[in-house]
Amino acid sequence: MSDPADLTIAAAGAKLRSGELSSVDLTEAVLERARMSESHLHAYLTLDQTGAREKATAADAALAAGDDRGPLHGIPIALKDNMCTKGIETTASSQILAGWIPPYDATVVSRLQAAGSVLVGKTNLDEFAMGSSTENSAYGATRNPWNTDTVPGGSSGGSAAAVATGSALAALGSDTGGSIRQPAALCGVVGVKPTYGLVSRYGLIAFASSLDQIGPFTRSVEDSAVLLEAIAGHDIHDATSIRGEIPNFRGSLHHGVAGLKIGVIKELSGPEIDPEVRTSVSKMHDALADAGAEVTEVSLPSCEYGLSAYYLIAPAECSANLARFDGVRFGLRSEGATTEEMMAATRAEGFGPEVIRRILLGTYALSAGYYDAFYGQAQRVRTLIRQQFAAAYEGVDVLVAPTSPTTAFEIGAKTDDPIAMYYADVCTIPINLTGDPGASIPIGLDSADLPIGYQVMAPSLGEERMFQVAQAVEDIANFTARAPLATSEVVSP
Ligand code: GLN
Repeated sequence: MSDPADLTIAAAGAKLRSGELSSVDLTEAVLERARMSESHLHAYLTLDQTGAREKATAADAALAAGDDRGPLHGIPIALKDNMCTKGIETTASSQILAGWIPPYDATVVSRLQAAGSVLVGKTNLDEFAMGSSTENSAYGATRNPWNTDTVPGGSSGGSAAAVATGSALAALGSDTGGSIRQPAALCGVVGVKPTYGLVSRYGLIAFASSLDQIGPFTRSVEDSAVLLEAIAGHDIHDATSIRGEIPNFRGSLHHGVAGLKIGVIKELSGPEIDPEVRTSVSKMHDALADAGAEVTEVSLPSCEYGLSAYYLIAPAECSANLARFDGVRFGLRSEGATTEEMMAATRAEGFGPEVIRRILLGTYALSAGYYDAFYGQAQRVRTLIRQQFAAAYEGVDVLVAPTSPTTAFEIGAKTDDPIAMYYADVCTIPINLTGDPGASIPIGLDSADLPIGYQVMAPSLGEERMFQVAQAVEDIANFTARAPLATSEVVSP
C-alpha cells in the first residue's frame, strides 16, 4: 500500500471503513511525514501530537462501535493558526498573541470535531493573514515543498504546504484577498474560497471583516466539497453567516461541462501574467471547449482597480479590528509608566512591520478629510466591480482566470517591495470584493517544476457550478505529480 499520508480524504475514508486502515495508523503516518518535512518546511507553528493520537484513538473506537460521523471521521486535518482552538495556543503568527490560549473553539473547529476529524496542529501564516508569501510570520517563513528556495504563497502558506507534503490530509485556511487560492496554486493543491457568509467567521481572528472567509485546502476537488459541506452553514454567533440549506456539493461534481458557458476574464489574460502560466491556463480553456463548453472572452475593465480598492478597504478594516490588541485583554503586555504608554509600547513591540504598515494606511484612509477620497472612493469601486461581475454572470455560468500571475517566487524576492508583493493577488482579489466563490485547481508544472493553478469563479452561492467545472478541470489536467519529500527532486507516480 502507498503511504497513507498521501491519500485523499475519500480514499482514506474508504480504507477506514473497510478496516484496511485505522485512524491511528493514518494519524501516525501524517505525524511521521511532519517529522520528516518540518525541518525543511516549517508548515506548523504547533503540532499537537498527543491530542491527535487521542482523537484518532477515539475515532477508531467510535467507528468500531458503529458511531460513524461521516466522511471526515478519523481524518487528520490542520488549521491555520488564526482560528481559535480551545486550550491550544493561537497566535495568528504575531508576537502580540504569543502564548495566548483561547477559551473557546471557532465554529469551524467545533464542526470539524463533531464530524469526527483529528486535529493535527496549527499552521503558519503571514502575521494576521497579511501577506502573500508567509514570510511575514513572526515565527519564521514557511517554504514551498516543491522547491524550498521558494515561498509557498500566503497568507495560508502553512496549510498549503502541509497538504502538499502530506503532513495533513486536508487543512483550513482563510481568504481575504486570495490567501487560500494563491498558496493552493503555488503548492499544487486544491483551495476553495466559499461565498462570503457561507462559513461562519466566529473564532476566526479578524483581519478585514467584510472580506474574510474560511475555506478548505485538499488534494482533490471532491475532498474540498466534502470539507466545505462539513463547515458551511448558518451560525448564530456570526451575524453575517447565511441562512439556508447547504447543498450536497459532491452531487454536482460529475456532470461535465457540455453546454456550460465559461467566460475567460480578458483583463487577467494579458502580459501581466507570466507566459508559462498564460500558456498552461489557455490550454485548459481550449480543453474545456473541446469537452463541450462554450468558452468566450469576457471583459471586466474594473478588475484593474481591484488591487487599489482592496488595499484601502482591507487596511481600513484591519486598523479597526486590530485596535483590540492593546496589552490589556490578550497576549503581550509591555512596560509603560502610564496606560497609554503601555499600550503604545505593546503595539510597537508586538506587531511586525507589515501589520504596522496596514494599520497606518488604514487609519489614514479613514481619517477625517481623507475618508471620502480614499475609503469612500474604494467602496464605490467595489460596487462597480460587483456590478460588472453580476452583469457578466448574466451571460456565462462561470468565470475563469489564472489563480496567480506567477508560480512560486524565491524567498526574499519581494520582501523589500510591498507593491510587488501586493500584485501577487491581482487575480484573486476581485471576487473577495464581490463576495463570490472561487476555487484553484492545480493543472500542471512550469519548466522549473513549480505548480500552476487554474481559478474557477461563480456567482454568490454558485458553489455547485464552481465545483462542477473544477472537477472537469481536475479530470482534464490529471495532475498527479506530488511535491518531493526531500528537497531535491519531483516525484511523478
Ligand atoms: N495577500 C493579501 C493581503 O496581504 C491577501 C491576504 C489574505 O487573503 N488574507 O492582504
